[in-house]
Amino acid sequence: MTRFVDVHNMLRWVADRGPASVISGMMGYLQEDFQRWESFDKTPRVASHTPFGVIELMPTSDHETYGFKYVNGHPSNPARGFQTVTAFGVLADVHNGYPTFLGEMTVLTALRTAATSGMVAKRLARPDSRVMAMIGAGSQSEFQALAFRSALGISTLRVWDTDAAAMGKLARNLGPLGFDITVASSAADAVRGADVITTCTADKTNATILTADLIAPGVHLNAIGGDCPGKTELDAAILELGEVFVEYTPQTRIEGEIQQMSADFGVTEFWEVLDGRAPGRTTAEQITIFDSVGFAVEDFSALRYVRDAVAGTDYCVEIDLVASPEDPKDLFGLVGALSPVG
Ligand code: NAD
Repeated sequence: MTRFVDVHNMLRWVADRGPASVISGMMGYLQEDFQRWESFDKTPRVASHTPFGVIELMPTSDHETYGFKYVNGHPSNPARGFQTVTAFGVLADVHNGYPTFLGEMTVLTALRTAATSGMVAKRLARPDSRVMAMIGAGSQSEFQALAFRSALGISTLRVWDTDAAAMGKLARNLGPLGFDITVASSAADAVRGADVITTCTADKTNATILTADLIAPGVHLNAIGGDCPGKTELDAAILELGEVFVEYTPQTRIEGEIQQMSADFGVTEFWEVLDGRAPGRTTAEQITIFDSVGFAVEDFSALRYVRDAVAGTDYCVEIDLVASPEDPKDLFGLVGALSPVG
């Protein structure tokens, strides 16, 4: 049998545990997996592009467990009443190849993206960071805010979105949770005085959400919205201002902000910082840039975390996903057993 967490149970689990506590716990699993980065099979995700958006498969394995996520990215979706990003994911036992765990990942992707951003910022942002500019107030934004409060103690948000209703929604969701929120009048206004800048906009174009003159010394830039060929958020000149950190270089060169740079543009993979092979932030004035696209190992960590957390609870159910004849060679016998006589 395969254990399954559907949307209702995922939401129930996250609400009962509290999203901030889930994000913190997930950061621990992410850190464990980034620290054993070299033991994972890694490949850029497999993407199917259409004029509407992209559908992607994100596989990885640590040779005990195999995992993959199905995810879409359709920036035009909200205008048609659909979400930009939806997902589900699977873990399987490599010894027999059977799927052991299946979970919704639309909510889980927002949690894992936030937890990854938080884990990275904890190592790269200035520890005295308190103010975050949030450019883009869509589905990912509240999760990002919670992760940065957990990782760094960020309590003040300066938010900008071209959609005023999205900013109102963010203020309604996060105000009661104790954030001090300023609705900005532009991206330039939002980043004024910010220690950390998160960009999480969605538009399938080479956008210029921020220009280099807006990035102050010492800022940590958490750029999560540019994650597809032809879909970036930052003026390329920003990438020359500081050190750029990525998840998995071959995928980020295709999908990240650095697709705007030459193929030999120097970047640091974040696992190397955790491992001590590469420095993280070296001075308080340094600008650090996390060019995040989302990588399969993060989904693997998130699924592993949920699987372990809900084991033995009623947040998961067993489903009959794999046909299992008593004689492993007699698959047809299962059909025969149900066929009407004659
Ligand atoms: P969403 O559609 O819910 O929200 C995006 C917001 O950006 C919208 O409110 C929109 O009005 C705003 N926006 C668009 N253009 C803007 C501009 N020029 N200036 C200011 N605001 C602007 O999308 P989402 O689910 O929050 O995802 C945001 C982005 O993050 C998407 O591009 C998605 O693909 C990406 N993403 C990345 C990761 C990762 O791991 N790096 C994970 C999940 C999502």
